[in-house]
Amino acid sequence: MPTSHEPLFLSALAINGPAQRADLARHIGVSRTSASNLARTLKDTGLIEDLPKPGVSASRYPLTTSATAGLLAAIIVSDEEVGVAISHLDGSRQASAAATVDPTDSPRVWVRTGIQQVKDLVADRYPSEPTPSIRQCVVAVPTQADAVTGEVYPSPASRRWIGINARETVSTALQCPIRINNTARMEGLCEHNAVNTASSSVTCYARFSRGVTLSHVVHGKIAAGAHGGSGELGHTVVDASGPQCSCGNQGCLMQYTSIPALQDRIRRMWPDTEHGQSGRPAPDLPKLLATAPPTWPHEISDVLREAGMIAGRALANVANLLDPDLLVIGGELGVADSPFFDELVLTIRQRTLPLISTHVTITRADSSRDLRRVALAAIESLRGDSDLMTTICTNLTGR
Ligand SMILES: [Zn+2]
Repeated sequence: MPTSHEPLFLSALAINGPAQRADLARHIGVSRTSASNLARTLKDTGLIEDLPKPGVSASRYPLTTSATAGLLAAIIVSDEEVGVAISHLDGSRQASAAATVDPTDSPRVWVRTGIQQVKDLVADRYPSEPTPSIRQCVVAVPTQADAVTGEVYPSPASRRWIGINARETVSTALQCPIRINNTARMEGLCEHNAVNTASSSVTCYARFSRGVTLSHVVHGKIAAGAHGGSGELGHTVVDASGPQCSCGNQGCLMQYTSIPALQDRIRRMWPDTEHGQSGRPAPDLPKLLATAPPTWPHEISDVLREAGMIAGRALANVANLLDPDLLVIGGELGVADSPFFDELVLTIRQRTLPLISTHVTITRADSSRDLRRVALAAIESLRGDSDLMTTICTNLTGR
């Protein structure tokens, strides 16, 4: 049966990045002459072009996919910032941007901000050409959304997102298919890729912020669960008779280790101000975490240490279950230089089984704190999906 090598050639380029004809020939198992012929045909269609490199003669320029072949895009939404990125199908000509958003706005506004940022990036990069088409976009949202439909299921824990379908909104606005994921999971992928060593094959990333979420990355792929619902570490119950949680259960981890829960606790420790009497105003925890004082007020220090111990117990369970090489602690509470992190690490070390504790590296989040880098990691996750890239390239070559 005759098969066309054009989609194979194009997808090899998309998956592996800009490459020489000889390398592409090897990848798809054809002769160098056939590869040169394929390159000529695809150049004629405008789907590929030379990628000029300084100091390299024109005949030795690597090949790259063109703007005509289209773009990949990513929108990473958090409740404080939105990061976006675009690139060609082969990962070349990357561009990224980030904008702060108002946490009190509707998440609908955050999603629209992301859409506008992508449109602005494309307009900025391709001012004179016909606007390139986006072939696939990944959208990450800080709530639990159905991986297939994009629907956010009714739950008090996701009440701000109910009725907002980021997948449909972005698909309509950018006229392209969408993959929906969770923001913390994408941050975990970004941390995993930044380390990018063979030994770091399993990464767990735990985000302690307004909520508490877990990302699990195995050999470069996000483990999102059967329906995109995994990682809800904050809603694991640590004390069945504990305080009421927004999800309806009692004693969820986020009631002990999220910033709002800890801020509430600190406020209750400063009762005088609540009754209008003279007294010190309750400290603002987010501000304290951002400035990380050399010496923490002892009351705050105690609260953070206890929270770190509870978080450490939960993460020791996670580590014993999943055996990660790398355990990254993120979120404003997680990355701050505070007793929370120190106690968390100590507790994990004490409570994990020897095989786990011997091998696991525990660090603070670094690269994922820049949502532009998270957006670029999200684009790489699309390029790493060979089935997706083959489908896109097959549709483009019409074979
Ligand atoms: Zn809960």
